[in-house]
Amino acid sequence: MSQSLSREQLIGLAKEFGTPLYVYHAEKIKDQYDTLSGAFSAVKARFFYACKALTNINILKFINGLGAGLDCVSIHEVHLGLKAGFTPDRILFTPNCVDFDEIDAGRALGVILNIDNISILEQFGNRYGGAYPICIRINPHIMGGGNYKISTGHIDSKFGISVHQMRHIERIVKTTGLNVKGLHMHTGSDIKDINVFLAGLEVMFGIAEHFPQIEFIDLGSGFKVPYHEDDVRTDVAALGKKVGDAFAQYKAENGKDLEVWFEPGKFLVSEAGYFLVKCNVVKQTTATVFVGVNSGFNHLIRPMMYEAYHRIENLSNPAGSPRIYTVVGHICETDTFAWDRTLSEVREGDVLVFYNAGAYGFEMASNFNSRLKPAEVLVLDGAAHLIRKRDVFEDLLRNQVEVL
Ligand SMILES: *Cc1c(COP(=O)(O)O)cnc(C)c1O
Repeated sequence: MSQSLSREQLIGLAKEFGTPLYVYHAEKIKDQYDTLSGAFSAVKARFFYACKALTNINILKFINGLGAGLDCVSIHEVHLGLKAGFTPDRILFTPNCVDFDEIDAGRALGVILNIDNISILEQFGNRYGGAYPICIRINPHIMGGGNYKISTGHIDSKFGISVHQMRHIERIVKTTGLNVKGLHMHTGSDIKDINVFLAGLEVMFGIAEHFPQIEFIDLGSGFKVPYHEDDVRTDVAALGKKVGDAFAQYKAENGKDLEVWFEPGKFLVSEAGYFLVKCNVVKQTTATVFVGVNSGFNHLIRPMMYEAYHRIENLSNPAGSPRIYTVVGHICETDTFAWDRTLSEVREGDVLVFYNAGAYGFEMASNFNSRLKPAEVLVLDGAAHLIRKRDVFEDLLRNQVEVL
């Protein structure tokens, strides 16, 4: 079932396209999509790819072809989605702290709006009443997820409208006649305990009766994929079964056949991505042996930003004896990808791969240190396609205005 690219294929791609290089494997994305949709076959489920994980237009087109919807957090992602072929009824717009005009632009394009604060809810209700259906993002105050920086459901989070503000939401809905079609929650990322989703669902069911026009409950995302060698993934099959039972029970008790929606980002694209770099320097210090590669947190920021773990392998010397290394980038700031990693002996010029590089990899890349952003390649049906050119020097000056 699990689709992956071989060491030989990856080495070949590094030779053909150079390094640093992001590589995505289309069949793996499809595999993940099939796993997820299969797990929820007992319910009326819809999946919206949270495209902030990876927005290359070819990835969007491929995922559109799978039949998924799209979850967008900016109006520009909405435009990318439309350009990729998603119809507005399959685009969910879930921005946070944006201007009313941006919400209104989403409305004009006909996408599904997910409103996440009282102020916008009130303005939207005053302007449009029930003429344009909406979804409301609720903060159920459930702790979910790995690193505190990626947890969004807790009491201090800026996301959603607190479930404790139900009375206020109700007042606005009643006085303005808002048509609330859906309730949404998204409590964070890297959630391995399926009870986090089920506890959230409980909260959603508890307030659903206040919205007679409700048609769906959106449980967001946060499905965990394995990063570590011995990591677990969210058991979507078990979750699918429990969610199926819960919706069936809700239907039996309330006579309403609600849909369940999800917004997977990482789950669809993380494992489909590989980041290839070259070892520039092997540097022995008094304390450790550094492998300095031709990249840095300007290309893959997750280790520095979230202390994320990415599995690394030396593709060029698989039979080399195992040695312990600290893998660092070439950015002039602390730029550590990994401490104390056992890799088969690394020589200058060897190609290393970072696994799980599909989600929040290229997407968070920058030109810090005036470095060029890497190229992106899509492997589909065994053929490799360049889907983004490597930056060139001129890209650093584009949009700069020389006045001196
Ligand atoms: C980021 C985000 C997601 C995707 O989260 P993953 O952990 O990548 O699956 C889903 N929904 C919303 C609203 C998000 O902001």
